Amino acid sequence: MSSDVTTELRQEERKSALVATNETDSLQQLLLRFSSLKRILRVTATVLRFLNLLRKQKTYSGSICEQELAEALLSLVRYCQRSCFYTEIQALQKNQLLPKPLRKLCIFLSTDDVLRVGGRLRHSDLDYEAKHQAILPSNHRLTELIIDDVHTKSLHAGPQTVQFLLAQNFWVLSARRAIAKRLSGCVRCFRAKPVLSQPLMGDLPRVRVTAVKAFQRVGCDYAGPFHVILGRRRRGVRPEKVYLCLLSVFGARLFIWRLLMICQLSPSSPPCGASLLVEVGALSFSATVAQTS
Ligand SMILES: [Zn+2]
Repeated sequence: MSSDVTTELRQEERKSALVATNETDSLQQLLLRFSSLKRILRVTATVLRFLNLLRKQKTYSGSICEQELAEALLSLVRYCQRSCFYTEIQALQKNQLLPKPLRKLCIFLSTDDVLRVGGRLRHSDLDYEAKHQAILPSNHRLTELIIDDVHTKSLHAGPQTVQFLLAQNFWVLSARRAIAKRLSGCVRCFRAKPVLSQPLMGDLPRVRVTAVKAFQRVGCDYAGPFHVILGRRRRGVRPEKVYLCLLSVFGARLFIWRLLMICQLSPSSPPCGASLLVEVGALSFSATVAQTS
């Protein structure tokens, strides 16, 4: 091999490769690489500590503490919000009208640069995170990891419990659907197939199990109010407030599912305490007008 060729090869070996990367790709890879939120937070906290050392900022020493894990979670939430709600954040900073899904939530950017729910709990005694939850999209990897983490920490609780626990810190858009999707993929819950326990029913009352003449003992219950339009629907007719009266005959196990429409009390209505003759089919019996709200 000649000396010219050797020199050329050495020059080629000295060439360095430049690899460009950015923070977004790194965080996305980190979220996809691990399935445990705890592990991701520890890695992120370690990286943040290293960055603080480089910037000569205040940093912690020793093992990773709770404060560092909380800051790591906030940094991941910020990354998630910037990637999913970029236009909303821009609109918020320019005082423009927000898109519809977030308009009702009165969102704002907090001092820690996190998109939070305004809500109506400003004057309550709850923690700041519970009053103004950080907004998360329903289909982001970080949201899935957080739902999994809450589900696991709550010993594989059901969807409603998970939604309540999530709401202490986060406001997930379309939360019920996102939680149901994650919980349906939980292998441990699938294997256990938890069934809700049904409490034992109490004894039936004496009036229900002793034979008496029909309509000797009658139960009465109300439901409502329901808003219905009485008569023909035409312009200007407002719906009336009506109640449903349910009568049941004890003993004979006979239920009269005849619906009685009791209109809202008006000046023409009978006064409270007045006796009325109620007709149910071919039968009739007296009843007393009760106070309704
Ligand atoms: Zn589970």
